[in-house]
Amino acid sequence: MAYDRRDQAVRAAVEHALLSESEPVVALLDTAGVRASAAALRTAFAEVTRAPVLHAFAVKASPLVPVLRLLYEEGLGAEVASPGELALARAAGVPADRTVLDSPAKTPAELREALALGVAVNADNPQELARLDALVPAAASRTNAPSPSPVGLRINAQVGGGSIDALSTATGTSKFGVALRDEGARDWIVRAFLDRPWLTRLHTHSGSQGMPLPLMAAGVRAVYELAEEINAAAGRRQVDTIDIGGGLPVNFTSDDETPTYAAYARLLAAEVPGLFDGRYGLVTEFGRSLLAKHGTVLARVEYTKTAGARPIAVTHAGVQVATRTVYDPASWPLRIAAYDAKGLPKTGPLVDQDVAGPACFAGDLLAVGRALPPLEPGDVVAALDTGAYYFAHHYAYNSLPRPGVYGFVTRPDGTVRFATVRAPQRPADIVAESGGEHRDALLRE
Ligand SMILES: *Cc1c(COP(=O)(O)O)cnc(C)c1O
Repeated sequence: MAYDRRDQAVRAAVEHALLSESEPVVALLDTAGVRASAAALRTAFAEVTRAPVLHAFAVKASPLVPVLRLLYEEGLGAEVASPGELALARAAGVPADRTVLDSPAKTPAELREALALGVAVNADNPQELARLDALVPAAASRTNAPSPSPVGLRINAQVGGGSIDALSTATGTSKFGVALRDEGARDWIVRAFLDRPWLTRLHTHSGSQGMPLPLMAAGVRAVYELAEEINAAAGRRQVDTIDIGGGLPVNFTSDDETPTYAAYARLLAAEVPGLFDGRYGLVTEFGRSLLAKHGTVLARVEYTKTAGARPIAVTHAGVQVATRTVYDPASWPLRIAAYDAKGLPKTGPLVDQDVAGPACFAGDLLAVGRALPPLEPGDVVAALDTGAYYFAHHYAYNSLPRPGVYGFVTRPDGTVRFATVRAPQRPADIVAESGGEHRDALLRE
């Protein structure tokens, strides 16, 4: 998020008492920043192709209805991977023809619902295709088209992994899609298309954070070449759309938004020119890169102490809002900014200190030995770049509540307007979601 907008928003959050004793951790979302990223994505692809492009936001990255609504207003659709995500996209008003269903474990009921709605489906594997063999004609007989939904097949191009194993989906043994380089796979895939006139798309998603762009481009190229081979064998343009997935990495080390969509789109156009000459429709599925830089977690410093001469600030943001960082700090370091009790940037000599969360286990640390001005009780720490896969991905350890999420816009006069995106969870909500109405359930014989 732009540095000056962030500072304005932090100050206003303190002044408006968004952050308070009763709400000691909140999340902020920079609405203008999200709009700018969506516009940059649209422009980047519009500059390299005249083909129709559906930018389907990967809902997993920020499963919040107002966020999906904002992105839809900015011209994006939704990529969903569960009944919950589909429900969120529908609640946001994203129409079926702007929605794509992926997921490696769709049930028959999910497939039937997607076909009934006309949501595009990417099959993950041969068994799912076999299921669709029964479901597609049944659903089609009610419409008049060969298939009520565009149907594709997910391919694992097996181009290799990036720096984070858990987010590398195109390794030799990844659980996703049909492994393209396995013995006999290519011929099987071509046959699968020839046998199914309604199978018209190919899908690939080579990975997320940690993937080098050339590797992602190699995955797209492999799938484009497969589409050409299928269409040559079919003697017609059976594959009419290629879904290139998401996964643009995010820079977590500074405010620079790199790599850019423009750079990735230009790289793709150079590496896979045939994909952009207008013969294929395109679908993209970016998630993290649209939201990450625009979110900030703010938390009050409750206490400060030293242990073994190490200064420690105990704050209200930890594993519940930064799960990946706490459990895998080497892969997911976060920048921390320090503000005083008035919400002004904190100054002073830098001192290495731990920034701890509120959860009851020793590893609940947002940062270890981080150089910051000496923190004091009442100060505010900000965990930056947390707009995707952080505060929207609550982890209910210690029954810590889901914090409120507030969008903000800054006006030219410097004032800030906040809008509630998600209300904070209350203790009564936690009780209700934790079996409160079944209190005596285990007492019955
Ligand atoms: C997670 C995921 C995405 C989005 O990845 P980002 O790294 O958030 O851009 C896109 N497509 C599929 C199939 C995914 O699983």
